[in-house]
Amino acid sequence: MKDENCIFCKIADGKIPTEKIFENDKVVAFRDIDPQAPTHVLVIPREHFASSSQVEDDSIFGDLVGSAVKIAKDLGLDESGYRMVINTGKQGGQSVPHLHLHLLAGRNLGWPPG
Ligand code: 5GP
Ligand code: ZN
Repeated sequence: MKDENCIFCKIADGKIPTEKIFENDKVVAFRDIDPQAPTHVLVIPREHFASSSQVEDDSIFGDLVGSAVKIAKDLGLDESGYRMVINTGKQGGQSVPHLHLHLLAGRNLGWPPG
């Protein structure tokens, strides 16, 4: 399913030209427009889910996390480390209503998150 008004659906479909870091039949990955770390990649499903809580087939989470781990390896982040985050809903800090995984790296990331 697609949402005509969704910015990430448009990116996944190539309607908004965006340099892809990785893609396969299930997911697309590209750099965040407002990076919060030296490496900040978004991994999204091609299919539109408004958030993690709207997913019916859990296998998409394996595709998202598995792709992010592969991208991290390809970018040479294994030794220094990285973080994967899925913000969900209002208190989770989600601002774009299309499921996405943040891959963050390149600096010491604080914990707990704000
Ligand atoms: P959220 O706050 O929903 O977890 O994350 C949404 C992310 O999408 C933010 O980090 C924001 O900077 C990023 N973002 C929003 N619009 C665009 C866009 O048009 N292109 C790209 N590359 N990133 C975007
Ligand atoms: Zn969408």
